[in-house]
Amino acid sequence: MDAFYQEQQPRMGAINQHSSSNEHSDIRRVRLPNAGTSRSSFESVSARSLLKKSERYVALATIPKVTYALSEDTMAAKTLNDLFIHALSDIYSAEKQLTKALPKLARASTNPELRQAFETHLEETHGQIERIDQVVESCGIKLQRLKCVAMEGLVEEGQEQIGEIERGPVLDAAIIGAAQKAEHYEIAAYGTLAALGKQLGQEQAVKLLLETLEEEKATDNKLTILAEQKISPEAASKS
Ligand code: FE
Ligand code: FE
Ligand code: FE
Repeated sequence: MDAFYQEQQPRMGAINQHSSSNEHSDIRRVRLPNAGTSRSSFESVSARSLLKKSERYVALATIPKVTYALSEDTMAAKTLNDLFIHALSDIYSAEKQLTKALPKLARASTNPELRQAFETHLEETHGQIERIDQVVESCGIKLQRLKCVAMEGLVEEGQEQIGEIERGPVLDAAIIGAAQKAEHYEIAAYGTLAALGKQLGQEQAVKLLLETLEEEKATDNKLTILAEQKISPEAASKS
């Protein structure tokens, strides 16, 4: 509950706007325990909608003061350095999620080369998390506690396909597609981070970020080659 604040006055412009709305004068921003600390896990709710979402929200009408969550960690970025920290925290969360998702992709893969590719990338991912720690150290910054909701969604989509498609070359092709979406997200994230790091004059951090960027690109290429040369032809022969 440490991310919860009780205040008489809202502290953010966005909350002010919501609170002053006539139609929804009872709107509050609330985060329930275990809902994560990312800004995107905050939601605006009205008393009307509380009834429908009773499982997710507490009835705020019973709480005398304005209650909302505003973690210092998720304050809006004001500088490029803030943006760098936010982006680094986001990809840290994404990488952590991938350490749990990659073994599942490996287990669901039928093609042994594909399985091996995921196992190899899992090892690399552990190294990438260590690199983020080194970036944090070299820049003298602190990561924010937040969840990359984009990666959460990408992982969920992959999981859905694993649950729906029969094991075999077609599922392998689907898994490659899902994994490549995740890799492309990482490529964009590390590209942005390297550019921000360069602007901030963080040479050591840029070097580390570019190393990871190359690993992500190499994995993406490896998956493309596997899909084109091995898995798609096999999947096509099944139709
Ligand atoms: Fe990664
Ligand atoms: Fe993200
Ligand atoms: Fe990756």
